[in-house]
Amino acid sequence: MHYYDQHMHTYFSPDSTETLERYLEQSAGKTVITTEHLDFFSKEQETADVLPDFDAYSEKIAQLNQLYDQRILKGIEVGFTYPDKEKIQDFLSGKDYDLILMSIHHNGRHGFMLLGNDDVPLENQLEEYYSLMLQGVREFTNANVLAHFDYGLRSYEVSVEELKAAEPKLLQIFETAVQHDIAFELNTRSMYRFGNAHLYEYAIDLYRSVGGTLFTVSSDAHVVEDYELGFKDAFEMLKKHGVEQLAVFKNQQPSFVELPQSANVQ
Ligand SMILES: [Zn+2]
Ligand SMILES: [Zn+2]
Repeated sequence: MHYYDQHMHTYFSPDSTETLERYLEQSAGKTVITTEHLDFFSKEQETADVLPDFDAYSEKIAQLNQLYDQRILKGIEVGFTYPDKEKIQDFLSGKDYDLILMSIHHNGRHGFMLLGNDDVPLENQLEEYYSLMLQGVREFTNANVLAHFDYGLRSYEVSVEELKAAEPKLLQIFETAVQHDIAFELNTRSMYRFGNAHLYEYAIDLYRSVGGTLFTVSSDAHVVEDYELGFKDAFEMLKKHGVEQLAVFKNQQPSFVELPQSANVQ
């Protein structure tokens, strides 16, 4: 089996207008899975909750699976917040998702990507963001993949030395993730659009140091042009760090596929 992109959005997410058909046309016979947003917000945020329309999504996929050789799976990206943990589990209950991503997108007051060095000192952002992530991996143990571990740093300039201030917490996060078979995502949008590839070089070794073996490489595409963004470089990075296999998820269960050789990557 070939490895395939495992973090993409379509018009079933509010921040994308892309279609499943266009990913299917780009994907050369490989499995296609989109991971549509689920995000609950607090009253103070005055933002409507984002709930993917599971019935319409399932129906669309069932139709397209007839036309495209059953190669579409179902996914969701859950923005985890502790106050909403029951609402999240209620939403997921009884739905046959193949893949559940866990993301930490906001803290009940603001989105983490909105802030940079000029707004909140890096030290405070590291403390708050990774505390919420630790709570996430402890509480939301049915997630399959920890998505974009650097999301809260996308608007910062951060060196590996600076990130090391959060190392004790990152170790706890990765140990807990490993206990619950939660994979580590190389989010190529973070790496190559937001310039955080160096932070991934560091985090790959840290996740491996606590026994982590489940890695995914994903584009976080919101448009088909970003499908498999930077995959060749991300595969090379993993190889350099001694990783030889990637994880793919079906029915929320991981299995391993060989890390693609760069010659076979588009
Ligand atoms: Zn996200
Ligand atoms: Zn996403």
